[in-house]
Amino acid sequence: MQCIKTKLEKLENTMEISLKVAIIGAGVSGLVAARELLREGHRVVVYEKSNQPGGTWIYDTRVESDPLGLDPKREIVHSSLYSSLRTNLPRHLMGFSDYPFTDRVYGDPRNFPGHEEVLKFLKDFAREFGLTELIRFETEVVRVERFDSGDDDYEWVVESRTSGASGEEEFQAVVVCTGHYAEPIVANLPGIEQWPGKQLHSHNYRVPDPFQNQVVIIGSGPSASDISIEIACVAKQVHLSSRSPNIYHVYKDGTIEFQDGSRVYTDVIIHCTGYKYSYPFLRTNGIVSIDDIRVGPLYKHVFPPQLSPRLSFVGVAYSVGIFEVVELQSKWIARVLSSKAILPSEKEMLVDVEEHYRDMADRGVPKHHTHKIHPHKFEYLDMIADLAGVPPVAKRIKEIHKRFLGLVFSSGIDTKRYRDEWDPNDI
Ligand code: FAD
Repeated sequence: MQCIKTKLEKLENTMEISLKVAIIGAGVSGLVAARELLREGHRVVVYEKSNQPGGTWIYDTRVESDPLGLDPKREIVHSSLYSSLRTNLPRHLMGFSDYPFTDRVYGDPRNFPGHEEVLKFLKDFAREFGLTELIRFETEVVRVERFDSGDDDYEWVVESRTSGASGEEEFQAVVVCTGHYAEPIVANLPGIEQWPGKQLHSHNYRVPDPFQNQVVIIGSGPSASDISIEIACVAKQVHLSSRSPNIYHVYKDGTIEFQDGSRVYTDVIIHCTGYKYSYPFLRTNGIVSIDDIRVGPLYKHVFPPQLSPRLSFVGVAYSVGIFEVVELQSKWIARVLSSKAILPSEKEMLVDVEEHYRDMADRGVPKHHTHKIHPHKFEYLDMIADLAGVPPVAKRIKEIHKRFLGLVFSSGIDTKRYRDEWDPNDI
């Protein structure tokens, strides 16, 4: 294997490099990764299990057979969108550096448009950059494994399934862009086995109509606030438990006891408690693993040192807004694969990851925040731009982001205040 790698590296140093690259997923991350790899002259195949591009932004009326989304045998519905969802960021922060969302209006001109508008924008992006024809739709990747036989220069085998048939193809590099909002995490509630009500995760919430009685919502993110405001218009009562430990116990008579001793009767608990990473197709003999929502080791949230640069991840890092993040990560990957940007040695990358983990532990940051780059998103992005040798995010975008965060902080759950009353065009 080492011999193949050395051969390839020699080859890469002497010629214009064009690798055959598999991208898994055609959401925001997969689309921009495909565009950046194409721009660098790589040959790209995008695998997408859905029948259209857009990932999360494809609203799906279906819900899963297990409303909590825990049954491993359930058929997974990818998107977690609810019908009324409007973006929680202004469109100014949901575009690409040379393809801004602000320049394109498809019927919903609001700064914080409904989800349909985002999907239309992404489809246009895919069409304009010739990405749609690179996507193998309704093709689910079921295995990605390092290929280490013979002296062929292919390194990875990708096994996929489409309409019941499976196929294998070899690639020189794989970029994983499968998102991380499809595998729910639920709150651990003492007494829940006896509690008679209905539970669901926000992943399986679509419309408020079925929730007419007493509802408890757990969570403090945008979904919790959107869903509680929406359900409050139809339900008799809605209680928002902003952190799961606020619920002390649940009982078989249907009541819920909070930590302050107060009790409410409730029919439904909605867990807006986030998601975990999952790469069921990835076979790396434990080189890349998931431990308490930590995918690791990943150098700067992108490259597993031992398998870099031929395996990479786009969109693992999360923050308030990911469009700039996944665009710069994609540029970095594309340029590393064509040797225009050079990674440190495997050892140096591992040391860097260890330092990151140690720093988190010293600061008391829980492991499950490993990939959270907020509130240092632009420091991270300036570093990625520097590593990639490309321009950083525009100053105006940084300024809009800063003002947006200030507004969200001061508005709390009152999302109307920033969604309808704030105009970032003034900046
Ligand atoms: P995804 O959009 O999840 O795309 C992953 C793709 O991979 C999917 O198309 C999926 O079908 C495909 N896939 C997965 N596994 C396989 C496989 N094995 N084989 C083939 N294909 C596969 N971000 C914002 O910027 N603004 C917002 O307002 C906002 N609101 C959000 C609201 C909700 C409810 C959620 C859940 C997220 C929101 N986000 C928002 C974050 C959002 O996830 C990102 O904007 C973005 O869509 C992530 O893109 P992605 O490509 O990384 O992942």
